Amino acid sequence: MVSFYPGPSRVYDDIARFVQDAHRDGILSMNHRSLEFENLMRKTIEALKRELEIPASCTVVFASSATECWEIIAQSLVKQQSTHIYNGAFGQKWFQYTQRIVPASQPFAFHPNEELNPEGLQFPESEVICLTQNETSNGTQVSNRVIGEVKKRNPHALIAVDATSSMAGVYLNFKTADVWFASVQKCFGLPAGLAVMICSSKAVARAMEINEREHYNSLVNQLMMVRKFQTTHTPNVLGMYLLYRVMKKSRGIHAISEQIKKQASGWYRFFEPAKNLKLYIGPPAVRSDTVITVAASAEKIKRLKTEARQAGFTLGSGYGELKEGTFRIANFPAITSTEIKALQRFFRSIDW
Ligand SMILES: *Cc1c(COP(=O)(O)O)cnc(C)c1O
Repeated sequence: MVSFYPGPSRVYDDIARFVQDAHRDGILSMNHRSLEFENLMRKTIEALKRELEIPASCTVVFASSATECWEIIAQSLVKQQSTHIYNGAFGQKWFQYTQRIVPASQPFAFHPNEELNPEGLQFPESEVICLTQNETSNGTQVSNRVIGEVKKRNPHALIAVDATSSMAGVYLNFKTADVWFASVQKCFGLPAGLAVMICSSKAVARAMEINEREHYNSLVNQLMMVRKFQTTHTPNVLGMYLLYRVMKKSRGIHAISEQIKKQASGWYRFFEPAKNLKLYIGPPAVRSDTVITVAASAEKIKRLKTEARQAGFTLGSGYGELKEGTFRIANFPAITSTEIKALQRFFRSIDW
């Protein structure tokens, strides 16, 4: 069975061997207050920075999920209000989670079939402006350029970016925002249970200034601990080890990004002749490179998913309000070109 689900998704084939190595080498019962752990954490952060081209001035901390990152940002970086720019279910959820912690936070919704126009995106009252770089629910993305434009227009604010379904899959210019985060069960090709959070020096300074220490995962506490390559609590050591091994073997983000973008245009071209299936997102500039969303009748989709399962493929269901009318195909780096060709053969073999 090949999973094209956009998270949790197909993991790299190497993972089986890496888990065995972890068992053999005592990683599974490693003490997180030991020197070995500090070395592992240091090496993991170094490898991440090297392979994803994260600026040396940034600080990397770990969390358990992207959802936890939403709450860490709300707790530790916002006092009065944040603004949430979104066009889909994940961005909206981030806003709703934040609003429970910071009631004055504001939504700024835009249409999925519309390129976000940075003109007029000025939020002088907001301490943090939140953007979803790759909206996994509808298959849209916001470019590095637009994120940079939002930052330029809001020099007083921190720009926080949810890149959960794109980080490690496409090149992200980390200089264009202050906080970036992603959980690893999407483009990293790893099992769930770990998230990476990248903080600019401006974000670190803001966290220190606010100095919020009410929670076990308060950002200040984590930033203090990571200086010694330590964590506030027993972390997902296996997840960190697997991340280290995958990063160490990585071909580098530019090579990966180029391939993902080529495959994405291949997918978008592929669906053009289809009669019963239609691409959900029209404008090429906003189409996601890592999540392809396809629309069809609910009945058609139900049959299609069953037939795909019988042929050995798991397709991603629609998400949220798009549950009935769409399905999604992950274009993540762990999926091989042979698997993509096989899924395309399957589509051609049915009444598509
Ligand atoms: C999957 C996803 C999340 C949620 O990730 P968890 O690790 O389950 O918390 C958040 N944002 C986006 C854009 C996602 O794709």
